[in-house]
Amino acid sequence: MNSQAELSASLVELRAAGRPVPCMDTSAEARRAWTSDDHAEQSIAARLCAGCAGLAGCRRFVEDHPDEWGVYAGSTDRERQPGRPRQSPRAAGAA
Ligand code: SF4
Repeated sequence: MNSQAELSASLVELRAAGRPVPCMDTSAEARRAWTSDDHAEQSIAARLCAGCAGLAGCRRFVEDHPDEWGVYAGSTDRERQPGRPRQSPRAAGAA
């Protein structure tokens, strides 16, 4: 099992035990903030990570995989990778 699969499995276990995992507990619409191209939306999601039961494991994962897009362990991709171009044309300002 790779490290992303291990992280996902641990988060599923936490949720099954009734522990909070905000990026999985919210509606599908709200979950998009974790992978949004918009830094402000990602920042909102990142604040919600503070209450996550899987925060420590998520932090270990993203420290090993700093190039991942989106929010992990309370940090946005821009915070981890300053200067990295945005993921999609929409984020770069194209319609
Ligand atoms: S810490 Fe990681 S697993 Fe928890 S809500 Fe944030 S992104 Fe999701």
